[in-house]
Amino acid sequence: MRVLEAKILGFCGGVRRAIALAHGAISDISGRVYADGELVHNGRVMDDLRSSGLKLLTAGDFEKIAEHDCVITRAHGTPKWRREMLRGIFKNVIDGTCPHVAGVCKIVAKAASDGKCILIIGNENHPEVVALRDAANGGICKVLCSADDVQSLERDIPAVLVVAQSTICERFFVEMSAKITAIFTDAEVRNTICTSSRARQNTLLELKKGGAEAIVIVGGKHSNNSATLVAVAEECALPVFLVECAHQLPLPQLETFQTVGVASGASTDRAAVDEVIAALKALR
Ligand code: SF4
Repeated sequence: MRVLEAKILGFCGGVRRAIALAHGAISDISGRVYADGELVHNGRVMDDLRSSGLKLLTAGDFEKIAEHDCVITRAHGTPKWRREMLRGIFKNVIDGTCPHVAGVCKIVAKAASDGKCILIIGNENHPEVVALRDAANGGICKVLCSADDVQSLERDIPAVLVVAQSTICERFFVEMSAKITAIFTDAEVRNTICTSSRARQNTLLELKKGGAEAIVIVGGKHSNNSATLVAVAEECALPVFLVECAHQLPLPQLETFQTVGVASGASTDRAAVDEVIAALKALR
């Protein structure tokens, strides 16, 4: 089989940073190292970190935190109330927030303090969106995930700032922004999709142009950016298969193609991608 590899594969910068912070803490800190939730949305990566000594923080742990224990917050961002709660329990709180997400939180906080209404295009329950809403600090902030959500907005809201969850589909963001600016003509639109997510989406188009008849996305089942890549591949009218590792490849189906493109989510380790590529190349 001919395998076309996406230009960008493996971890994005924000995920790489959070994992490096965790490994650094595990080797340097004498106490226990906790993660405040899944640092990244990848079961295999989290299993690897757990086997290296990282512990997932639960409410049951709060009573037994010792002086030298530390906690790392997740790459997706953490609401202020949660960070303050952690600082009340741990002497050492390591900020694992992706710098890009931290930057968007600052944009939201400034706009909210200026009295603007924040419209976030994204998934309401995603941890990053929870952190962005929190950054609005009680100001007007709405999450929009469909054209109906735009139509149901009240028309008398004050000045509007539009931002994106960093991993959503860019075409969807552009369409939603156009619907918003058709209603709120003075709205300020900030395309806050991160560079890594945008590049991963664009690379699918390149794979199609290169002759890919199907796409394999290597990514976590709960990863938003992997789900976005699946949606973008479907929009390219290509069959798409989401797998976390080579064992999940539906080989009988894939054998029917001569050329397959391989892309990966931002929280997928390069080793998993290489295993998938090797398994595909072994097909006749
Ligand atoms: S996908 Fe983008 S926003 Fe999310 S952690 Fe990676 S670089 Fe940061």
